[in-house]
Amino acid sequence: MNSNPYEILGVARDASDADIKKAYHKLVMKYHPDRNPGDKSAEDKFKEVNNAFDILKDPQKRAAYDRFGNAAFAGGNGASAGAGGNPFGAGGFDFNMGGGAGMEDILREAMRGFGFGDFGGGGASASRGAANRRGRDLLDEVVIDLKDAYFGKTHTVKFSSNATCEKCHGYGTADGKPAPSCPKCGGSGYVRTQQGFFAMEAPCPECHGIGHKIEKKCDACDGVGAVHKSRTLEVKIPAGVEDGARLRLAGQGEAGTNGGPAGDFYLDVRVRPDKRFQRVGSDLIMHMDIAFTTLALGGEIDVNTIDDKTLAVKVPAGTQVGERLRVRGHGMPGRRAGSYGDMYIEIGIQIPTKLTDKQKKLLAEFAETKPGKKGWF
Ligand SMILES: [Zn+2]
Ligand SMILES: [Zn+2]
Repeated sequence: MNSNPYEILGVARDASDADIKKAYHKLVMKYHPDRNPGDKSAEDKFKEVNNAFDILKDPQKRAAYDRFGNAAFAGGNGASAGAGGNPFGAGGFDFNMGGGAGMEDILREAMRGFGFGDFGGGGASASRGAANRRGRDLLDEVVIDLKDAYFGKTHTVKFSSNATCEKCHGYGTADGKPAPSCPKCGGSGYVRTQQGFFAMEAPCPECHGIGHKIEKKCDACDGVGAVHKSRTLEVKIPAGVEDGARLRLAGQGEAGTNGGPAGDFYLDVRVRPDKRFQRVGSDLIMHMDIAFTTLALGGEIDVNTIDDKTLAVKVPAGTQVGERLRVRGHGMPGRRAGSYGDMYIEIGIQIPTKLTDKQKKLLAEFAETKPGKKGWF
């Protein structure tokens, strides 16, 4: 955590008041929560920038920082109370919550005169509550056979997760309407306190950082806005899906809180290696041992395809071991709708080990015939 206000604002040690102000305005616009909804790191940055400016805009505080560093603001006990540091646990702090200005005030002060107009006009922006959070993403994995990958498949996922409470539409209120913002913090969930030279923020003691105050809670979710539910998702795995594919179901993850959007659901698809087919892109390669006579004389073989059809495939006379016969359109579904890869039959050979006397005689006779000058090939 950076606690050097000069570094936070990106100004030199000897920067003029005007330069500091300029740098501050630029950063405050950049990290403004309304421009970064739901972005916690921007929110932290925003507070950090405000804390840094608090020190540097005040000649007395600035001089104290220049002389003593952060120790000037640590209440003399040496605890690090740097910008954004956890104010709890630092001993010797006496929080005066009563006088703290809300986040809303900081925002209004920061935005005044910068084209944003009057910021919210007194609590109107409180719909952006501190605890308005996007739900978590969920991830599951499924292992399917190559044949399932060929045809596509509907995969049913059963799990339990937080889901938006239907009774209160996620607001946690008995009447199902958005709760009014907390009067203490104006909906920000934070209160500002002054300790010596140093201003810091702490979770609002009234609403515990939620930003809303629910007078009458929804009895279905006890005011949380979400309930733990078992859910069933039907995930459609598309035909031709590849091993390692990640499918995304937008908005099917965990419910958000305080009206925040739901997360996404992801399904990782693994395709089990197949005994017969090796997949290369959308093509399928299979190995097949063929009678040596068929390879020599040519003929037809029966081949079972991935979609359980039997094809008669022509083997040209003189086909060699290791050659590949291509059968068009009998591979996997391609990325383009309606397209299919090819099936390749990699040729192996069947050499008989048990021959009848007649077969031996025929082969012996064949062996006595003279091959051409270049052999039989
Ligand atoms: Zn509050
Ligand atoms: Zn509810």
